Amino acid sequence: MAEVEVIRLAKSFGTHDIIRDLDLKIEDGEFVVLVGPSGCGKTTLLRMIAGLEPTTAGEIHIGARDVTHLSPKNRDIAMVFQSYALYPHMTAAENMGFSLKLAKIPAAKIADQVARAAKLLHIDHLLSRKPRELSGGQRQRVAMGRAMVREPAVYLFDEPLSNLDAQLRTSMRAEIKRMHLEEKQTVIYVTHDQIEAMTLADRIVAMRAGKIEQIGSPDDLYNRPASTFVAKFIGSPAMNLLPAELAGGEIRVTDGPVFALPPAFAHLRAETGRKVLLGIRPEAFHLSPAQAGWPAFEVTASLIEPCGAEVYVIGDLAGQEVTLRLAPGTAPARGESRSFFADTAALHLFDAVTERSLRDDDDNQGQKP
Ligand code: ATP
Repeated sequence: MAEVEVIRLAKSFGTHDIIRDLDLKIEDGEFVVLVGPSGCGKTTLLRMIAGLEPTTAGEIHIGARDVTHLSPKNRDIAMVFQSYALYPHMTAAENMGFSLKLAKIPAAKIADQVARAAKLLHIDHLLSRKPRELSGGQRQRVAMGRAMVREPAVYLFDEPLSNLDAQLRTSMRAEIKRMHLEEKQTVIYVTHDQIEAMTLADRIVAMRAGKIEQIGSPDDLYNRPASTFVAKFIGSPAMNLLPAELAGGEIRVTDGPVFALPPAFAHLRAETGRKVLLGIRPEAFHLSPAQAGWPAFEVTASLIEPCGAEVYVIGDLAGQEVTLRLAPGTAPARGESRSFFADTAALHLFDAVTERSLRDDDDNQGQKP
């Protein structure tokens, strides 16, 4: 196991700057998930750490070593991709042990390592099967086992579950989490899937156009997003953002209600005329206020989406389209208007121009634009 440090890393393809001056330190045993929109450079960053892509500038350290110019096989990493090419003529055990065999590790030691990884991955009963006799999820476990037997210092995962169906994804996700809790490997994991990011990560790195927008725990990114970019990217359905203005200790929602600044934004008391965006997550709307002072918002429902355990209501709030997440049976009918109360502790404020959070305890580690 080892820590990973990326220092002022840059990558350009021709005149295209893909990764720009990026600093990132991953602790020994930490599970870090890279998220961001398509094309923001997640895979490129991972491939540079793996040594599959040369750097344009900067350094990569794994443990105590500067590996920037080392070949992938000398970096002590293992990478698991979305597509997992297993050798079709080899059994699961042979596939898993192949790299150790190439490294001339004694057969008994290989068998031990394979058995240990197989036990962790719950595939010990499948070791004598060929890939064609395995399901997609089982094959993906063999591919992970192949990485694990080498006991690398760092695991790099590039969307390893994206080829699996929804149910398998969920069970593999839990498996990966359990394994990390037991083995405490250092993991860097790229995904598009928010639930994977939220459930697996010790820390999430939200990337935007080759830079880090925010680094923090899943709770930080969800509850204290540093910008509207992160606020909209983490959480589904996305956070609602309403144009508003500050005036004498109040928030005035454009064409909507006026209410006192919540305590987290009390430092903005003296500001008047500043344009802001008020952020309200879909679940922050309630039918009645739990505390005095919760502002009320009139919402006219235009679409009702029942999802079993919850119902999404899409509607109009002061001329803006918003989404509310409500308990089944509590949603208004289509076309109906109703007042909802927003939890003041769950409100967010962003500067309308910079789109950065105005929370005063905001100490995210995002790079400056
Ligand atoms: P996705 O989520 O879609 O996988 P990503 O965040 O992983 O995206 P990358 O695959 O890292 O993004 O790509 C970042 C940018 O670099 C993209 O604009 C891509 O087109 C470009 N890119 C990647 N590899 C190359 C290459 N070999 N030559 C030129 N451009 C490349």
